[in-house]
Amino acid sequence: MKFATLAVHAGQRPDPQTGAVNVAVSLTSTFQMDGIGKLRNGFEYARSDNPSRRALETTIAALEGGKHALSFASGQAASTAVLDLLEPNDEIVTTSNIYGGTYRLFHKVYQKYGITVRVAEKTTPESIQAALSEKTVLVWTESPSNPLLTLLDLAETAERIQKFRNKKGEKPLLLVDNTFPSPAFQNPLALGADIVSHSCTKYIGGHSDVIGGAVVVNDETLWQQLKFYQNAGGAVQGPMDCYLLQRGLRTLPLRMKKHEENAYRVAEFLRGHAQVEEVFFPGFEDFPNHQLVAKQMRGLPGIVSFKIRGDLETVHRFFAGLRLFILAESLGGVESLLCHPASMTHAALPESERQKVGITDNLIRLSMGIEDADDLIDDLQNALEIVNN
Ligand SMILES: *Cc1c(COP(=O)(O)O)cnc(C)c1O
Repeated sequence: MKFATLAVHAGQRPDPQTGAVNVAVSLTSTFQMDGIGKLRNGFEYARSDNPSRRALETTIAALEGGKHALSFASGQAASTAVLDLLEPNDEIVTTSNIYGGTYRLFHKVYQKYGITVRVAEKTTPESIQAALSEKTVLVWTESPSNPLLTLLDLAETAERIQKFRNKKGEKPLLLVDNTFPSPAFQNPLALGADIVSHSCTKYIGGHSDVIGGAVVVNDETLWQQLKFYQNAGGAVQGPMDCYLLQRGLRTLPLRMKKHEENAYRVAEFLRGHAQVEEVFFPGFEDFPNHQLVAKQMRGLPGIVSFKIRGDLETVHRFFAGLRLFILAESLGGVESLLCHPASMTHAALPESERQKVGITDNLIRLSMGIEDADDLIDDLQNALEIVNN
C-alpha cells in the first residue's frame, strides 16, 4: 500500500471485539495472566508492551518501511536507548551539524561512561569514512540537519561504511535522525541506514501537543537489543500520547505537503529581501548538494533558516515585530514557529563550536505551519520593516 493509505490504516484497523474504528487508549498498567508464565494476549506489564504502543509502533514502522519500531517518551529517550547499546571505549562518529540535545547527550552524559565522540571534519560521506576508527561502533547523522539544513548523501554514506570493520569485527551502525523530513519525505532504511530515529514531538505528532520519540530498524537482533533497553530504561511513550501521535500520523502526508509549499514561498520571499543576509533552504537550486533532494527525498520539510542583516539587537526587534509567527522551541506543528538557535535549540554547544558550525547570533530558524503562505509572508515583511525603523 502507498504511504497515505498506510498513514490511515497501518496498525489502526477497527477493533475486532467492538468495531471501534480508533485504537483504544489502553489505560492499564498490567494484564491478567492465565497462569504462571501464561500470558493471555501477549501482554504482561505496560512498560514492556501494551496495545496502544504496539499500534503506534506498527504504524511508524510501516511508514518508515521498516520491520520494527519502538516508541519512547521523547526523541531524547529514543536516542538514549540507542546509546545504551554502546560500551566503554566505543566511539561515535558524527558530524558537526546535529541537534543540540544530541550533542549534549554525547558530551555531557555518555562521554563520562568512556564513550568517545569523533566529529567528521565535513558533513560528507568521504569525511565520515575518514573519521572511522577501530573503535567506531556508531555513525550518527542528520539530513537535512538542524538548523542549517545541510544535506548528506545517505546512500553513499551507508556504502562507505558497509565494508568497514571495527576491532570487534563489526560494521559500525549507521543512524539517521529523520525528524526533519519525517517518514513522509525520506526513508533512510531503504538508503542503507541501520537505525532511523525520530523526535515524534515534531512532524509526526504535528500539533505541538505531545513529546515523543521513536526508533525504527529492520534487523531482528538490533530490535531485540533496543527493546531490551526500552524496557530496562523504561522511558516509554504513554498510551494517551500514543493515541495523539497516531492521530497526528493520519494527516502527516497532507500536512507535509502544505509545510513544504509554505517553505518554498517563504524562502523565495526572504531571499529577495534587502534585510536578509542569507537564506538556508535546500529547495534552492544553488543550495549545496541540492541534487540530493531529488536523489533521496520526496519533498522538503517546512523549515527555512536565515541570517538577518544585523546583530542580536536586530533579532530582538524583528521578533518583537512579529504578530503571527510564535517564538518557541520546537517545529513541525500546524502553527508557524520561529526560534533563535544560538540561544535556544543549540545553546548546549559551546560558543566556539557554534561559530564553527555557522550558528551565529543573527541566525533565525522558521518552522512553517499550515497557515496561508500570504499571511506568513505579510507577517515577516512587517517585522523586517520594523527592524529598519
Ligand atoms: C527535537 C529534536 C530532537 C529531540 O527530540 P525531543 O522529542 O525534544 O526529545 C532530536 N533530533 C532532532 C533533529 C530534533 O529536532
